Amino acid sequence: MITSDDKKYLMNTYSRYPITLLEGKGTKVWDDKGNVYLDFVAGIAVNSLGHCHPALVNAIKNQSEKLIHCSNLYWNENQIELAKIIAENSFGDKVFFANSGAEANEGAIKLARKYASLKYGSKRYKVISAKNSFHGRTFGALTATGQEKYHKGFGPLLSGFKYVPFNDIDALKETIDDEVCAIMLEVVQGEGGIHEATPEYIKAVREICDENDILFIIDEVQTGIGRTGKLFGYEHYGITPDIMTLAKGLGGGFPIGAIVAKEDKSVFSPGDHASTFGGNPLACAAGIAVMKEITKEGFLDSVAQKGEYFKGKLESLKEKHSVIKEVRGKGLMIGCEMDMEEASDIVTKAMGKGLLINCISHNVLRFVPSLTVTEEEIDTAIIILDDVLCEMGF
Ligand SMILES: *Cc1c(COP(=O)(O)O)cnc(C)c1O
Repeated sequence: MITSDDKKYLMNTYSRYPITLLEGKGTKVWDDKGNVYLDFVAGIAVNSLGHCHPALVNAIKNQSEKLIHCSNLYWNENQIELAKIIAENSFGDKVFFANSGAEANEGAIKLARKYASLKYGSKRYKVISAKNSFHGRTFGALTATGQEKYHKGFGPLLSGFKYVPFNDIDALKETIDDEVCAIMLEVVQGEGGIHEATPEYIKAVREICDENDILFIIDEVQTGIGRTGKLFGYEHYGITPDIMTLAKGLGGGFPIGAIVAKEDKSVFSPGDHASTFGGNPLACAAGIAVMKEITKEGFLDSVAQKGEYFKGKLESLKEKHSVIKEVRGKGLMIGCEMDMEEASDIVTKAMGKGLLINCISHNVLRFVPSLTVTEEEIDTAIIILDDVLCEMGF
């Protein structure tokens, strides 16, 4: 039950919808009043296997009876196993585990600065990121986030950051100088409104980085772990980054983040970076369970196929309701830009009909259901959206 205590004891950081969720199974969640919802938010692209997937539940249960936490003063088998699975399935060779997306990005920025300082000295520290990007809320990640609304009131931010318009190769070239150590991008901007990088842009960034020994950091916190229909978003572009960061979907709901880097870029040495909880046995057990499911034969193909199916259905809805301006995204990371100033009413009305979605950048509906969502569930979501748009007179 939500009581007056919610506002009394919790900091006022979220504008929450007035429901309290108690249970989930697959794509469904139940609130404290017994209402059931189709969950197309999935903890913001976190519940990759759906709610309470048996493989994840069992992994957490079993590990919690053996060893929940031990310090990184000692080895733990799960951490080694998860790092191996990630390395074997990506461009990366070495992994560092953190607890969140922001923390992974902080570490990636530190790693890039360390690499540059070892090779070129202290004058090479600048990080270029994109306007409209989102990299997290801690100071380094916040500074990298190219949206003023998140910066307001928190200055001074870190020095040495520059922002360029997304998908603009010339603007990027103009910003490059010999003080730049890294370019940090999402291949599909998530919080910024589901904007995909163009293939030409990502290829050009790779070339610019190669020519100047600048590290290409791809923030795969949202796009990673199968979300876009490939295990990692960069795979759509025929290039590899030097460093990528992971979090959201990796633990299927259990907090875990990671920095993944190529061998020659993995320049941290003992004492450079650390995290008390990072990569503890329980978090890594969750990560292993998720990675094993997602790398099963056919899983990613089904994500890609369901994404196409969903986009097709949204395109048909667009024919009917001209208020839908554009449908975009990859795999099960889909945005619907609405021809209105503010689309949050649609979210509230959909919730009243049993569908959870969210709205970003004022007028973009974001759909990031669990990767195990079914076509029938997508059909139901479409019927609800259609109903809502009809009722609102669109
Ligand atoms: C959510 C997100 C983050 C921040 O992750 P937290 O776990 O909330 O710190 C960073 N980058 C991207 C691309 C994200 O979507």
